[in-house]
Amino acid sequence: MKKVFFAVLLTVALIFSGTEVFTSQAQKIDEIAEVVEGSKILVLNYHQIDNKANPLAIPPATFDAQMKYLVDSGCVTITPDELYAGLNGELELPEKPVLITFDDGYVDNYTNAFPILKKYGLHATIFVIPAFTSVNPNYMTWEQLKEMEANGITIESHTLTHPKLEELPDDEIRSELLNSKNLLEQNLGHPVEFLAYPTGTYNLHIAGIAQNVGYKGAFTIKYGIVDCGSNFFALERVPIFNTAQNTMKDFYERIAWRQSFEEFGWSKK
Ligand SMILES: [Zn+2]
Repeated sequence: MKKVFFAVLLTVALIFSGTEVFTSQAQKIDEIAEVVEGSKILVLNYHQIDNKANPLAIPPATFDAQMKYLVDSGCVTITPDELYAGLNGELELPEKPVLITFDDGYVDNYTNAFPILKKYGLHATIFVIPAFTSVNPNYMTWEQLKEMEANGITIESHTLTHPKLEELPDDEIRSELLNSKNLLEQNLGHPVEFLAYPTGTYNLHIAGIAQNVGYKGAFTIKYGIVDCGSNFFALERVPIFNTAQNTMKDFYERIAWRQSFEEFGWSKK
């Protein structure tokens, strides 16, 4: 309701006072939103880091520039546990918290992304498909996952085999969510409590099963920024794509545009 009010206020201010008010008013709304809603967490979503002609593959040099941009802008990378504790008010998050995530667990995450993340001292989270781990050569091995976990990377679940969950009967949804969790926990030796839905698809029913088998939260590909208005089982992310010539420009715009979701009162529901 507050957001709607501020959006109306902004519109009125614009009509009467021209565009200069737009900036200061928008800034003010942003400040108020910070106070009212607490931390806003940017969650980036990557897939492959490779020189492939594929929208999901970011060239390593571009990925390096994006990570440098985050560091230079004062962003601090956090883990899913910190995001969870921050949203629950149990932990004070840094001023510009960013959660860097990768889906699927491609081997290039180890060969190309990991050295860059280490170079900048950044944390990241990879949602892997454990049925492919140490089996399919396009995906990482258990040894690689363990080495990454010893160096600031968190491994979480992307289901056992990456099916379209919404097309499965309940018992299969449950086994995809539970068996991936168990397999990861056995091999990595720590609780696995976060999930990224394959293809980002989810509904209340799937979210309920995820919660029931022991997850604390799940990430979608719903484009937006996480804050205390977010649903723990429908966490927003900002997908980063390879857009040929304009990948860096698009990266800046995607990050910058995130603010306008709340400023204009757009719903998270
Ligand atoms: Zn996936």
